[in-house]
Formats: sequence, C-alpha cells, structure tokens
Amino acid sequence: MSDCIFCKIANGEIPSNTIYENSEFRVILDNGPATKGHALVLPKAHYADLFEIPEETVAGAAKVAKEVASKIKEKLGCDGLNLVQNNGPVAGQTVMHFHLHIIPRYSNDGQHILWKPT
Ligand code: 5GP
Ligand code: ZN
Repeated sequence: MSDCIFCKIANGEIPSNTIYENSEFRVILDNGPATKGHALVLPKAHYADLFEIPEETVAGAAKVAKEVASKIKEKLGCDGLNLVQNNGPVAGQTVMHFHLHIIPRYSNDGQHILWKPT
C-alpha cells in the first residue's frame, strides 16, 4: 500500500527506532509511548487488521512478540507487560496496518490504579 505509513516504516523507506527485524517483521519503538519501551510489531506485508491477516502471519507476529517481550523484560526490568491489538477505529485503531503493541508495565507506572470514589 503506497500511502501506508507502517508499510513504509516496516520496509525501511522511512527510518524508525528498530529493535528487531527479520524477513517478515520489523519491531519499532512507538513514537507516542504509553510506557518506557512501548514497541510495535509490524508485518512487512500490508494487512489492515486481524480480519485480513492470514493465520500464519498472526502466528509469526506472536512468536516475534514473545521473543522481543522477553528481551524487553530482561533489559528494562519491567514488572509486567500488555500485548494489545486494536481492530477498527471504534476499537482504537488509528493506523490501518495490522500491528501488535508490546507495552511494558511497571509497578509505579500509575496506569493500573483505578480512580475510586470516596
Ligand atoms: P493503534 O491506535 O492503531 O493501535 O496504534 C497506533 C500506534 O502507532 C500509536 O501508539 C501511535 O503512537 C503509533 N504511531 C503512529 N504513527 C507512528 C509513526 O510514524 N512512528 C512510530 N514509531 N509510531 C507511530
Ligand atoms: Zn501498510
């Protein structure tokens, strides 16, 4: 897809902070990170979402996510981690090129503390 930003990033036409790459995937740091180390697994081929992507490519993305998440945990010492994947604008998808979010979580990141009425 010629006008897709993640196609351009995944295929190296636009520079990115790449933390992992193989022939099918590139993993980059998110430029609006939710936490330190927030990364995105991008397939190099264009699929809009979970409904378009072939099963074997999802499996490949999950394998890459597991490997990279383990490295992130080792390097950054996060206390937990979210794997997130949005499909469609109503579900929060803003870039219509399938991607997995790897979001390291820290006990002091505050995002797990829910507001409670007093
Ligand atoms: P979505 O909301 O579609 O699940 O996630 C899109 C993510 O991509 C967001 O977290 C956003 O910060 C990130 N993002 C959008 N454009 C770029 C970009 O050009 N470079 C990088 N590194 N991240 C981007
Ligand atoms: Zn694309």
